[in-house]
Amino acid sequence: MTIEYISLNPSGDKMPLIGFGCAKIPPEQTAEVIYNAIKVGYRLFDGGSNYYNEKQVGDGIRMAINDGLVERKEIFVISKLWCTNHAKEHVRQACQRSLDDLGLEYIDLYLIHFPVALEHVPMHVRYPAGWTQPGEKQVRRARVPMHVCWAAMESLVDDGLVRNIGMSNFNAQLMMDLLSYCRIEPALLQVELHPYLQQDAYVKWIQKQGIAVTAYSSFGPASFAAGGLKHAKSVESLFDNPVIKEIAAKYNRDPGQIALRWSLERNVGVVPKSTSVSRMKSNLDVLNWKMDEEDIQAINQLDMGLRFNDPVIKGWDLPIFL
Ligand code: NAD
Repeated sequence: MTIEYISLNPSGDKMPLIGFGCAKIPPEQTAEVIYNAIKVGYRLFDGGSNYYNEKQVGDGIRMAINDGLVERKEIFVISKLWCTNHAKEHVRQACQRSLDDLGLEYIDLYLIHFPVALEHVPMHVRYPAGWTQPGEKQVRRARVPMHVCWAAMESLVDDGLVRNIGMSNFNAQLMMDLLSYCRIEPALLQVELHPYLQQDAYVKWIQKQGIAVTAYSSFGPASFAAGGLKHAKSVESLFDNPVIKEIAAKYNRDPGQIALRWSLERNVGVVPKSTSVSRMKSNLDVLNWKMDEEDIQAINQLDMGLRFNDPVIKGWDLPIFL
């Protein structure tokens, strides 16, 4: 198996098109899960400070390096800046904390997690900070404009703490605005993308700007239904979708592999998450084969504009996708 890569701008770094999602893995299992994922062949890890397991992700990577499975330079590590740390001085502090937790000297790609600045929560008060101030029930926005946050992200590249910078959950308007002032252009945008939420025009436009795209939640409702989200439970699972199942049968693949391959056919990276070694293996086995155009078209017909990861659905007064 040869991992397919995408070249990032402006660094020219090669990023694996398939990686491993680190969210929602209980901290006590994380080091072993990451170690197993490296053993199975994953080379990209999509983590974040707000996933409550960044230290353990670092432990897993270190175990694998110490056992001689990989070298640091063969691993591509992503971390994310949380919303409470958008101010200039907090960007640096948050990035340093992620570096310390991961036990790394640099992060390959550092993403602004959400396009919302929230009131800062000092690390000694609560870490990770979460969405609200301690003891409060609703979010509090902070007066930090995006250009200030982005300039602080750029200085992390200047100083070698991170190699590439990008963002997640940004909409087109904000991307257009940011592209009008940035000194270092974003390397990558990570957004929710799956057959039920395809955002085709947006993906194509972003790629046309020379910015790579990574999909999160490639299995659509799966992780949200597992987390108990009502509107995810009421949607047909992608794994049971008759169109996906029929295509899976044609290629002798499982439905999860079809969802992932469909994304790779758009040159969109994926970061599936699984704690089971057999699923880790099957999710990685989506490289070096092609899907016929008619099958891609059939999956394209499944778009419903159905989003699951929206702060509003979680109860936060942040309608960022409108
Ligand atoms: P996902 O779409 O990868 O789905 C995971 C769920 O599917 C789990 O319940 C898992 O048990 C199940 N599963 C995995 N492989 C399977 C298979 N082959 N067959 C059947 N079931 C399978 O989930 P996700 O966690 O929403 O997204 C993946 C990653 O994306 C996260 O871990 C994180 O790194 C990233 N992410 C980023 C953001 C963001 O805001 N930037 C948001 C959500 C997720």
